[in-house]
Amino acid sequence: MYVTQALHRALQQTPDLPATINGDRIRTHRDIAARVARLAGALRELGVSEGDRVAIAALNSDRYHEYLLATWWRGAAVTPINTRWSPTEIGYALRDSQTAVLLVDDAFAAHVPALRAAAPTVTTVIHCGDGPTPDETLSYEELVAAAPPVPDIGRGGDALAGVFYTSGTTGRPKGVMLSHTNLITSALGTLSMRALAHPGGRFLHVAPLFHLAGLASWIAQSMVGGTHIMVPAFDPVRVLAIVEEHRATSTFLVPTMIRLLADHPRLKDHDVSSLRTVTYGAAPISEVLLNRAMQAFPEAGFTQAYGMTELAPVATLLTAGEHLTGGELLRSAGRAAPHCEVRVVTTDGRPAPAGTVGEVTVRGDNVMLGYWGRPEESAATVREGWMHTGDCGYLDEHGYLYIIDRIKDMIITGGENVYSAEVENIIAQHPAVASCAVIGVPDAQWGERVHAVIVLRPGATATAEDIRTHVKNHIADYKAPRSCEFLDALPVSGAGKVLKRELREPYWAGTDRTVG
Ligand code: ATP
Ligand code: MG
Repeated sequence: MYVTQALHRALQQTPDLPATINGDRIRTHRDIAARVARLAGALRELGVSEGDRVAIAALNSDRYHEYLLATWWRGAAVTPINTRWSPTEIGYALRDSQTAVLLVDDAFAAHVPALRAAAPTVTTVIHCGDGPTPDETLSYEELVAAAPPVPDIGRGGDALAGVFYTSGTTGRPKGVMLSHTNLITSALGTLSMRALAHPGGRFLHVAPLFHLAGLASWIAQSMVGGTHIMVPAFDPVRVLAIVEEHRATSTFLVPTMIRLLADHPRLKDHDVSSLRTVTYGAAPISEVLLNRAMQAFPEAGFTQAYGMTELAPVATLLTAGEHLTGGELLRSAGRAAPHCEVRVVTTDGRPAPAGTVGEVTVRGDNVMLGYWGRPEESAATVREGWMHTGDCGYLDEHGYLYIIDRIKDMIITGGENVYSAEVENIIAQHPAVASCAVIGVPDAQWGERVHAVIVLRPGATATAEDIRTHVKNHIADYKAPRSCEFLDALPVSGAGKVLKRELREPYWAGTDRTVG
């Protein structure tokens, strides 16, 4: 199996259907296949060989789409760059992955000299924006126009498809090596649980393609030969307008995006009834937010995916039907997807009985090849085929997985374990709260104390004491935040995840504990 197989199939079966919609530029599968064959020819002329890494630092676009396909057509591996990274961080990823060819769009054109300085491994920069081509870079459109088309090498199976950097939520991003089999396995398993995927479907790419959650949707949509609608960057009003204009049928959103859309005052001005499938995941969602989202998009079936970059990325799914059951299930991340097994293990490595919290482990053909250049970490993380996720949770007797927290985010206060996500869920139910994060901070008496960082809804008020009382009304006293701070916004990563290590940093500075 190889990813570009999907393009060959679309070319044979639905050549004239739109493959990409990017603003008012629409390209059919036939157009895309012709351009990809020439772009792969250009990569060959630039010296890119099988297995070489090529990088892309760009917002979502139809050219991103073509470049991914051309990379695989050429038998090479892709390194998607997180667009929120600084030039120094990008330099690290380019050096780490030993990348020679880099594609940038207009958003990165101005940073080319800094990127070159930070990553001497880069020999060629291609510019794919609509603005002027910067000095010492090649024009993407000129390459596509001039290069000879080459045949698809058809490299796949266990061959490296890319080095994908994790979100960097808990520390420095790690390069995850995924094969074609890894990516396709996760996509097929996910598709088999989503009834509405069909060639006429139009998938709205709101989540960035550099993040595996966004890329996974791209792979799945490519497998069914559907249309990809590209959104360069998340903006709630723009997203609502594009859904309406292009009649998008499905999308993937991270919880932060769901909140901004569901709470948006202009939601009611747009007809979003075409949206039939909303998949969400990549970070915990509170039950209140999920209920709000289901009300905001009554026509849509919601599917939750739980997974991680290392799992290409899906491990469990909570289907649209299960969402309608409501109740307790809405707190679950669903059951093992058809392509993998999920086990919760205790600290001694044995399977935990139903209802007992332990580390979530996953086995299947979606488990990564390993971390790029980190053999010890790979061996410690994947043991006898089981990926140790670093997340804790429990399985119920029907196999539903409940994610409790990241092990690194758990707070130990006065000898009691407090799961930050449980407290966040309760705080999120307070009517004045827009979003929140619960962290452990040093405390002379308790070792660590529960601390809440809260963003209030516009115009709403609440004191630390209000929040404490609210939490104590729902869960045990020791889980209630002993202190609170109120901010205008929480720090989030490029993938839209709350960066708790940044919130923890000022409290732990000067201690010997790392907050990663
Ligand atoms: P890093 O590994 O660099 O610290 P990261 O773990 O955030 O960053 P990703 O691979 O993007 O990088 O994210 C995977 C993590 O996201 C999971 O380990 C889990 O903690 C969280 N996650 C993903 N899906 C869900 C979900 N549906 N519910 C709760 N948490 C989720
Ligand atoms: Mg991780």
